[in-house]
Amino acid sequence: MDLNTAEGSRTAVNTTSSKPGQHEKSASPADSDLLTSCVHCGFCLEVCPTYKLTGDENNSPRGRLRLWREEAEGRLEQDPWTDFYTSECVGCLACESACPANVPYGKIFENIRHQHVASGRYSPSLMLRMAAKAATYPLLMNLAMLPVRMLRRRGWLRGTMSVPGRPASIQSTASLARQLMQRHRPSGPRVALLTGCLMESVFREINAATVRVLIENNVQVIVPDDQTCCGAFQEHCGLEGAEQLQEANRKAFGKLQVDAVLSNSSGCGYALGRALSGSQTVRDVLTFLGEHGIIPRKRDSNKAQVYVDLPCHLVHGQKAAGIPTNVLDATGYRWQLAPAARDCCGSGGTYQMEKPENAREILARKSAFLNDAEGDPVILATSNHVCMMQWHSALTHSLVRRPFQVKHVIQLLDPGEDF
Ligand code: SF4
Ligand code: SF4
Repeated sequence: MDLNTAEGSRTAVNTTSSKPGQHEKSASPADSDLLTSCVHCGFCLEVCPTYKLTGDENNSPRGRLRLWREEAEGRLEQDPWTDFYTSECVGCLACESACPANVPYGKIFENIRHQHVASGRYSPSLMLRMAAKAATYPLLMNLAMLPVRMLRRRGWLRGTMSVPGRPASIQSTASLARQLMQRHRPSGPRVALLTGCLMESVFREINAATVRVLIENNVQVIVPDDQTCCGAFQEHCGLEGAEQLQEANRKAFGKLQVDAVLSNSSGCGYALGRALSGSQTVRDVLTFLGEHGIIPRKRDSNKAQVYVDLPCHLVHGQKAAGIPTNVLDATGYRWQLAPAARDCCGSGGTYQMEKPENAREILARKSAFLNDAEGDPVILATSNHVCMMQWHSALTHSLVRRPFQVKHVIQLLDPGEDF
């Protein structure tokens, strides 16, 4: 469907649902209460990536909320265009930050997405369903992704996971943490680290860097073996299973005697924070290091330039002010925020797989500055592995016509594999 011709077309579409009679109202009474909290001010429109892409009111937070409310109140029949506009949402939560009425858009969207999937109005692809299932079996996923880690380590991987990196093929992050704790015996605050599903099975080098940076800064790190996926993947897709994962993580992390539970991926941290609410404080590792204090790195070259992008789930989900400046200064690089650093890059968890054309267009606009950006090398640094994959795709899809590196900020602080 061409987004640019979508506006105004809703009324021209047959209003019979793809599954008529199956689902009379798509929102529960509780959702209806939430939906009425929107006062239609429109402050959210200009921050919404799909509205900016299309100029279509229905493709904005206010438009989606109106469609859902009209359907919930029985004033609008189930309509394929409502399903379409719901599926267009990136889930970036920028609208929540912009909203003066505190409309809980993310919660409403999550509920609606689940209802659409449960009733067959939206169906995630088989690949996404399989990936969501695999994420619930960490050991299996780590084993299945062994060839991917090996290929990444040698720089031979092509495709969406080809972000350069040197993940350990065999040694887990939990094992590395035990080894380094014994070797360096830090005595400072005690934290537990969420290693995640995709992070541990594919981007393990980021977890390893996180452990090394924390221990180098005198932080005691434990990595519970019985933790599991945070459930964000399932939530993004509207699939069942997130609650069981959250329950497993409540058991794994809930009773630990730690000062904080840390995450190095903003989306996973946001999801785990909600799961452990009331039992543990979940912090982003960079936020934690900003408060704890951090040993600065020294760099010989001053030609490199780091552009820092802020993941949506860090600033709009976790409501962090950003990545602490003392942490960025400690990297030793010249750095500055990327233009529109708080805007979505189009990754949206699973959005880059569900709506690749939209995701690419959002990224094309956001990454254009890199073509003329100062620095050699140029490094785009962020703090979410899915955003890293999305930024790296600007190279593989030739959206940016000069080389640049994509890094997690924690990697810029890493003392290295010999630590
Ligand atoms: S979550 Fe993002 S894409 Fe969805 S309506 Fe809000 S601002 Fe737009
Ligand atoms: S900013 Fe909030 S209240 Fe205003 S239109 Fe958007 S969602 Fe509704």
